[in-house]
Formats: sequence, structure tokens, C-alpha cells
Amino acid sequence: MAVASKIAGFILNSSWIRRMFEEGEALRKEFGAENVYDFTLGNPDVDPPAEFYEEFHKLAHDPIQGMHRYMSNAGYQETRGAVAHILGEASGLPVQANHVIMTCGAGGALNVVLKTILNPGDQVIIVTPYFVEYKFYIDNHGGVPVEVWTDRETFQLDVDAIKDAINERTKGIIICSPNNPTGVIYPAESLQALGEVVAAKEQEYGRQICVISDEPYARITYDGKQVPSIFKYVKNSVVVTSHSKDLALPGERIGYLAANPRMNRVDHFMEGAIFANRVLGFVNAPALMQRLVACLQHICVDIQAYQEKRDLLYNGLTSLGFEMVRPDGAFYLFPKSPLADDVEFVRMAQKHRILLVPGTGFGAPGYFRIAYCVDKGMIERSMGAWEALAKECGLEGPRKAEWDAEQADVAERG
Ligand code: PLP
Repeated sequence: MAVASKIAGFILNSSWIRRMFEEGEALRKEFGAENVYDFTLGNPDVDPPAEFYEEFHKLAHDPIQGMHRYMSNAGYQETRGAVAHILGEASGLPVQANHVIMTCGAGGALNVVLKTILNPGDQVIIVTPYFVEYKFYIDNHGGVPVEVWTDRETFQLDVDAIKDAINERTKGIIICSPNNPTGVIYPAESLQALGEVVAAKEQEYGRQICVISDEPYARITYDGKQVPSIFKYVKNSVVVTSHSKDLALPGERIGYLAANPRMNRVDHFMEGAIFANRVLGFVNAPALMQRLVACLQHICVDIQAYQEKRDLLYNGLTSLGFEMVRPDGAFYLFPKSPLADDVEFVRMAQKHRILLVPGTGFGAPGYFRIAYCVDKGMIERSMGAWEALAKECGLEGPRKAEWDAEQADVAERG
């Protein structure tokens, strides 16, 4: 069967991660899995926390009658209430169960929100570098993505650039903090500035603009940093998120959307979103997972382990001369490509059996992404390959002598 030409084009231009994965499979066959350093996928290497298995065990041994049936399209009241409670704590606002819809992951939640708000041709601003699926999700619902760069040195929001991009067709703005692929967290001042710009533009054009805060990494933060609540700063805002990363459950497809209780006509929005969740074919989020996550809203995977991996890579690679922003959250690094052509650099890395995704895949040529939700041993084993790669690129890091000494010390200690 012929594939629609639009889809064929999307496949051609968007399959970086998949392509690298397939090439990695070939390398693994040739050199053995332990000799290939695969940093391509944002698929957590850790298992869910013990509390998840305890709740799972309880439910399996003491099932609730009818627990596998259809339910309200928005999800179980009890789960929605548990989510509302935690969002209320974070924002200080009266978030209620009826502001929450349980969804099939953050991806499902994004699609529900976009379907709910977009008319054909409406524009949605996405900030570069961006999670590549945003463009496709916007297209799914007849919208048009508009790319606006973040600050190229810090990857922080460029609120003035967003202001300039807003026009009479703008219906949404998607932000992601902590960010995939850069790992930066947007501070409260940026969100406040964004809120003020959006409110002024809503007034100017006489139409509402929905700020969609995509937050699947919100609990994966380092050095005591926190993600400020978007609800405090932007009135017409929606949180979309999931437990794919914080409870390491990406295959279970459990997430939610929550509307700011201060949103204009919030009940109307929720009615639309519940309908969208149904007719997109999700019907409802997985029943069993809803029961489990209702009890796990204060639980998260071991953040310290991710922080150690960040430090290992950040310290190691900057010592070798790679330049990057030190991330405050998520599990990605987004260094500058030492070669002007990031695709060529990624090909060069492949020769050293290091698998990466070029920045081009995130709308940001000149950079590359490292996903460090991988085994720590693999990161340690990869360091020799990184060093050889840095040499081939002609990098000479400021801390290179120090790094060499550290490595010699590690080798001596065995
Ligand atoms: N948003 C961002 C920024 C992501 O990185 C991901 C997954 O990697 C998603 C959304 C989709 O997450 P989910 O698995 O919950 O659908």
C-alpha cells in the first residue's frame, strides 16, 4: 500500500534516532554489545522504584472487582485527585481532580491538548532545540509549527524572540523544562516574563494562547534545583507529563494533562480535552497503571545515580575540550559539535563506536545529543573512545592534563 506522500517525507527527514539505533545494532553484532557506546535513546536503563512493585503486588493479590473495565474517559477520580493534590502543593493553587485527565503518556497528552485547541492553520511556537515529535503532533491536528531559537549559548528561553513570533494566528507555545535535548531548567523569572508577554499579546489580538508545559523530566533535577510551577506564572497554561522517566515506566504509557485552574473557561477546555482523549482512540489511560501511580505521586527513581552519570560525562568531556552547557535536569547533554557539520561529526563518532544523535534532529545543526540514561559502566568504558574522538577532531581541552592524570590514576588503581 502506498504511504501518503506527507508521511513518506516525514519518515525520510525524522528518523535520526532510529537510523542510529539500527546502525548500532550492526556495530553490536560486529564488535560485541560491551564495545559499542550507545547514547542515542532516551529510554531509562533503571527499573521502576521498589514502591511500584509493592503496589503492583498488592493489586495482583487483592484485585478490585471490575478494575479492567472501561471507565470515564478522563480516568479514575482517585488518580486524578492524587495528581491534582501534588500540582496544588507545587503551585499553591486550588487544582482539583476535574482539572486533570489521565493520558497515554506525555505524547498522548500533547496530542489531546493540540487537538482540543487547534483550528486548521493555527500556529504553535516551539523553542529550538526541540523534541522532534512536536512538529508531527502539531501537524496531526492541522497546526503549523513555528520555530523560535533559545539563547544559543545558554539554551534559556529568549522571551523577546517569542514575543516577536506571536501573531494573530498563534494558538499555542510548547516549552519543555527540564529540556530534552539540552537539560536546562527555565527559572521562575523566565516563566514570569513569558506569562507577561503572552497576556499582553492575548490582549492585543483578542484571542487566547495556550502555553503547554511539557514536563516528563520535572522530577529529574540535580543539585537541589526545582522546576517552577507554570501555573503560577501563566494563566492559560496546561501541564503535560508522564511517569515514563520519573518512575521509569515508558512502556506502560501512563501520563496526564492538567489545566491551570485560573485558565479562561477551564471547564470548557476540559470538556473538549476529555472528548479529544476519547476520539483520538486512546479512550482512557491504562487502568492498571492509573491505580498504581495514584499511590506513587511522591516517588521517583534514584536521581543521584543520574547526577553521577551527568558529572562523569560532563567532567570527562569538557576535560577533553568539548563545550556544553552543564544541565540541571533530565538525562541529556547537548554539546557543540567540534566539526561544523554535526552529521559528519556523528559519523566520525560512529567509527569510534560512539553512537550519538546530530543536533539537526532537534532543529539545531552544530550540536549533538548524548542520552546518559545508560549503564554507568558503559560510560566509563567509553572514555577511551571519547578521547580518541576528541583527538581526531583536534580538540585540546583546558583540563586535558588534569584529565590525563585522573585517567592514569584510575588505571593504576585498577
Ligand atoms: N516530551 C519529551 C520532551 C520527551 O522527551 C518525551 C519522551 O522522550 C515525551 C514528551 C513523550 O513521553 P511519553 O513516553 O510519556 O509519551
